[in-house]
Amino acid sequence: MLPFPSPAAALPRLRLPPLPLPLRHYPFPLPLLLLRGASSSTHHHPRLLPQAASLPPPPPDALLPSQATGLVAASQANFMRVIVDAVPPCHDLERHRGSDLLCVVRALLKKIRRRVLVGDLVLVGAVDWADRRGMIEDVFERRTEVADPPVANVDRLVVLFSLDQPKPEPATLTRFLVEAESTGIPFVLVFNKVELVDEQTIACWRDRLKSWGYDPLFLSVDQQSGFSALEEMLKGQTTVVVGPSGVGKSSLINALRCNQDISEEDPIHKLVEQNSKWFGEQRVGTVSKKSGKGKHTTRHVSLLPIAGGGFLADTPGFNQPSLMKVTKKSLAETFPEIRKMLKENEPSKCLFNDCVHLGEHGCVVKGDWERYPYYLQMLDEIKIREEIQLRTFGTKREGDVRYKTGVMGVKQAEPRLELKKHRRVSRKKINQSILDEIDDDLDDLDDDYLFDVKQRSRKR
Ligand code: GDP
Ligand code: ZN
Repeated sequence: MLPFPSPAAALPRLRLPPLPLPLRHYPFPLPLLLLRGASSSTHHHPRLLPQAASLPPPPPDALLPSQATGLVAASQANFMRVIVDAVPPCHDLERHRGSDLLCVVRALLKKIRRRVLVGDLVLVGAVDWADRRGMIEDVFERRTEVADPPVANVDRLVVLFSLDQPKPEPATLTRFLVEAESTGIPFVLVFNKVELVDEQTIACWRDRLKSWGYDPLFLSVDQQSGFSALEEMLKGQTTVVVGPSGVGKSSLINALRCNQDISEEDPIHKLVEQNSKWFGEQRVGTVSKKSGKGKHTTRHVSLLPIAGGGFLADTPGFNQPSLMKVTKKSLAETFPEIRKMLKENEPSKCLFNDCVHLGEHGCVVKGDWERYPYYLQMLDEIKIREEIQLRTFGTKREGDVRYKTGVMGVKQAEPRLELKKHRRVSRKKINQSILDEIDDDLDDLDDDYLFDVKQRSRKR
């Protein structure tokens, strides 16, 4: 288990260094935030910064005594648990490596919409080593990013289905596989509940998946069988389990995590409890009076340590694959069958560069494979989505359209908040304290809230 900070009786309020500090106070390389922030005036909130900095973490000897780098292992509301990775090579700080710091995120990071995700490698400043607290000042380059659950630097996905209760449904399975392929993150397909079916059924699915281009693992969480291959694969990696409900995702996560017998309790709850006085001084859990929902509704995610090193997200993902990252053009790349046909035909190619492989004249992709109808179906769906986006906004950028699940679970596209209008209101009318409350996630700013802000600003 990771060490916890001792309960501190009277906790001094964390002192926030003003920003920007004189340059000489900053380690090199400079965090991207400061390089960019330095040129902008204090009331300017640049929106177009990348979500994560593109710089790698600085070497330990560039860190100040009050700084450290670390991995965000859990988040809850405004608070993040950071496992210390590197400390400055002075003041005997080495012993703090691997320990936890309870951190808030610097308000400026939120204002520039730089989201900090679980799994991020971050620069922590204003570290109070005695009380193990600090403030996240910057985010270092991100290798990968999963949106559901929100986790950065994921090395592998486990796409989990069950052989029975519920039975695998080829269309759903395909949707999950396409979504997993579209992340670009390596994944392994796993079938659970093998004890519920006979050998023949297992062999049947193995052959079927082979023809799709996959080599799945079969196991039973209940019987604790077939685990070793999966455990071997996940060693030293950060993994997210995805799949439809009921297949055993939570059961698998519980089976894979270490220390399961010690406490089910997430360390962050303990940290929150132990530091409640300090938390009391922070704005926690502000609730939108219209919706009754917390504004910081970002789901709580933790990385659980697993046997052999590595982490597993405690929250499973993609309950509903949205296919938001898949375009008309990229869909074909998410089907191993098409990739194989294209490769086998090399150096010949489809006649048209932008061929979407409908089997027209000059297309090298034939239609004689099991999942071709699913490919066509998904292509249709994506075409419709792209057309709606194009009509609504004259652009295909995915960020411009958001999806709401409407009647019968049908996804409905609608334009995002009008960013420019929103910014104008923000700059002129909303004072700093309201701005501080605006979550970095625009989705959390519901229309009601914006309407409220506009009403208020009109009254003035
Ligand atoms: P999730 O919705 O994917 O998180 O699935 P859960 O982990 O909640 O499991 C759903 C149901 O499947 C529960 O009743 C589990 O006890 C059951 N389950 C999980 N693994 C197995 C298994 O290997 N065999 C059988 N028969 N049931 C299992
Ligand atoms: Zn083609």
